[in-house]
Amino acid sequence: MICCKPNFNARAFDYDEQHLYVFNMHEQLSSCLWANTAAPDLQAIPLQGAISADVIIVGAGFTGCAAALALAQRGARVALLEAKSVGWGASGRTGGQVIPGLKYDPDELEAMLGPDLGPRMVTAVGGVGDEVFGLIERHAISCDAQRKGWLQPAYSTKSLDLALRRCDSWKRRGANVSAIDQSRMAQLLGTEHYLGGWEDRRAGHVQPMSYVRGVAIAAQRAGAVIHTESPALALTKQGAKWRVATPKGSVDSDQVLIATNGYTDGLWPGLARTIVPMMSFQAATVPIPEAMGKHILPEGHAASDTRRLLWYFRRDAHGRLIMGGRAPYREDLGAGDDNYVRTAVNRLYPQLNNTPFEFHWAGRVAMTQDHLPHLHQLDKGLWTAMGYNGRGVGMATLLGRLLSDLALGVSPKDIPFPVTSMQPIFGYPFTRLVARALVSYYRLRDELEAAGSTTKYPHTEGPL
Ligand SMILES: Cc1cc2nc3c(=O)[nH]c(=O)nc-3n(C[C@H](O)[C@H](O)[C@H](O)COP(=O)(O)OP(=O)(O)OC[C@H]3O[C@@H](n4cnc5c(N)ncnc54)[C@H](O)[C@@H]3O)c2cc1C
Repeated sequence: MICCKPNFNARAFDYDEQHLYVFNMHEQLSSCLWANTAAPDLQAIPLQGAISADVIIVGAGFTGCAAALALAQRGARVALLEAKSVGWGASGRTGGQVIPGLKYDPDELEAMLGPDLGPRMVTAVGGVGDEVFGLIERHAISCDAQRKGWLQPAYSTKSLDLALRRCDSWKRRGANVSAIDQSRMAQLLGTEHYLGGWEDRRAGHVQPMSYVRGVAIAAQRAGAVIHTESPALALTKQGAKWRVATPKGSVDSDQVLIATNGYTDGLWPGLARTIVPMMSFQAATVPIPEAMGKHILPEGHAASDTRRLLWYFRRDAHGRLIMGGRAPYREDLGAGDDNYVRTAVNRLYPQLNNTPFEFHWAGRVAMTQDHLPHLHQLDKGLWTAMGYNGRGVGMATLLGRLLSDLALGVSPKDIPFPVTSMQPIFGYPFTRLVARALVSYYRLRDELEAAGSTTKYPHTEGPL
């Protein structure tokens, strides 16, 4: 019998005696734009008593909800267990940018994965825009969905070369992308900060809390049972069946999907040590008056630049500017931690110097050592997908569906993504130190690279 009990009472982001990250049960979403402007939450109650299902899913973000919907639509009995509320993890806190592709270019992915899996994976990760916007359309999910493209503006000559190579790599495969020169980029962003870059018209943005709630409601309509405030406390094997215990109940099933990403606890030994949770912070201005804001992202793009510690930004449906970026490695971040994103707003859009932030929030981005998301078989009938490296709106929706295929018996070799075994990171207790060191190193590299480029605004001043 395999059993592990996470400690839900420890302090935020502490490292507990089992060397596992635990999360702060008091952390609130009250200052998050998305929680304050989302479509109504679904009806769900904590699990009480013993039930059975074909598939148990742990975690109700994009991964878990997409898996629940795909399974329920094919007639599986699904029990989705969420420790807090639907979208409480990263899914309800993202920038909502739906971006096809991964850190690696299609050429690199194909070289890494070979002539069979490589092209299938490139097609799958390039298609996440269709995955998300198709789901939204089919289930009439009201989430301010805008498919007006994504821009990757380059802050240095070196990163401009990389961006143009990436664009070319997608273009050769027929993707709807184009290179953007410096003056057109300035027009599309409303700032002359960048040297040019590329545009991906397969992309867009959504109100992420409304989106995840919409997928969960569609899953409920298809027959999935969702229990919120129901942390999975123990996962055990009882003969051929899995059993997940919650504070007031339990579920037995043949298959279990763990969909906890950056909020992974000790439910499955070693799993939390396969990813490094990093904090990302966002702030949203008050709605910007038309006269002041009409040149800021006038065509409705989402954008994330080429910095290693990137700035990502977009408007919301009410005309606010949302800016995101790195944050200190703490979980109790608040309004006082907005200096990085304030600097970014002021540099890109000096006309907003005196425009206050109305909302601020932060969440965990799950990074992996190889910069790829991971789809693991943990045991017979036990699967997980995680480690989206900041590209989870599209990728988690896709991998949630692929998890549902695996749970229904599709062979891993027929999945357009590598299905691997779990490999905890060597020397994991030191990853926080390494991550801090890496942030300082990346900051320096970003500054040096920008200083060596012909940018209109040097990047060396300010509290970065
Ligand atoms: C600030 C921020 C900005 C981002 N911006 C973008 C962006 O613009 N575009 C993009 O593509 N990606 C972005 N990302 C990444 C993206 O949000 C994530 O990759 C994605 O939401 C992951 O979804 P998920 O369902 O796998 O995990 P999550 O949404 O984190 O859900 C995991 C859930 O598991 C639950 N859980 C954990 N343990 C248990 C347990 N034992 N029992 C029951 N439930 C449990 C948690 O409560 C949580 O709700 C961003 C992330 C952050 C934090």
